[in-house]
Amino acid sequence: MSSVDIKRFTEKLHHLRKAQNTSPKPMDTHGMILYVEGVNKSFDGFKAINDLNLYIKEGELRCIIGPNGAGKSTMMDIITGKTRPDSGTAWFGQDCNLLEMDEPAIAKAGIGRKFQKPTVFEALSVDENLELAMKAPKTVISSLFGKMTKVQKELRDHVLEITGLLNLRHAKGQILSHGQKQWLEIAMLLMQEPKLLLVDEPVTGMTRQEMEKTGELLVSLAGTHSIIVVEHDMDFVRSIARTVTVLHQGHVLSEGTISQVQSDPKVIEVYLGGS
Ligand code: ADP
Ligand code: MG
Repeated sequence: MSSVDIKRFTEKLHHLRKAQNTSPKPMDTHGMILYVEGVNKSFDGFKAINDLNLYIKEGELRCIIGPNGAGKSTMMDIITGKTRPDSGTAWFGQDCNLLEMDEPAIAKAGIGRKFQKPTVFEALSVDENLELAMKAPKTVISSLFGKMTKVQKELRDHVLEITGLLNLRHAKGQILSHGQKQWLEIAMLLMQEPKLLLVDEPVTGMTRQEMEKTGELLVSLAGTHSIIVVEHDMDFVRSIARTVTVLHQGHVLSEGTISQVQSDPKVIEVYLGGS
């Protein structure tokens, strides 16, 4: 949905609710694009997420780090509607109560997620992969036969350019390097015009050079997009992040610049103390 569509949609909803007098209590998300507060989630009595607070500003690029099992993926599952928390609040902007929306509705509202493992279609070209990733109601057939609108084509070309894939647009997925596949995956995500991007370990398995390029790409997307990156590579985190959140046992252990969190005794204890 474009921002114009989202605005129209929320206005329509607002109008409908007013008419039915079912307006929910207004939520003040303090201008945050993502407002997660007091969220809890247990799996068989094990608290994977424990009173989690996360506030992401519009246009921010936030890195989330934390040891294995800290709850990073579960946190992303909750934001994208894959997992329902037991309690808490989670809002996307002022109007989208994420805990009342299902996965497709959340994606449609503008939250896109890139999983760790690339899922590009190997037998299709870069261009075709992007066409398939478009969000218009379509069948595979119609999209593969060039039924893109002028605006969609412009969007695709723009996405190809910013992800550095323009020269590879006719290349099949199978000949792309690991890094190029990851960029194509980000490009496919951008075809959905998300406002908030969740990116899980984007530089795993990349060369230094590919990592640098990925960092540049994410930094260039920030501002016009809000981005949450889960990543383990500290050099990478240092090169892109303004604010880093350290998760531990489903809770925010520390938050600040990378230097601040790396010198935080609580963080040192968790990473070096083997707890
Ligand atoms: P991270 O991504 O930070 O490594 P996860 O969010 O994957 O951590 O997992 C947090 C904890 O919750 C882990 O102990 C994991 O075993 C547990 N967990 C996650 N998903 C499930 C599930 N569907 N069922 C049971 N336990 C789960
Ligand atoms: Mg994980």
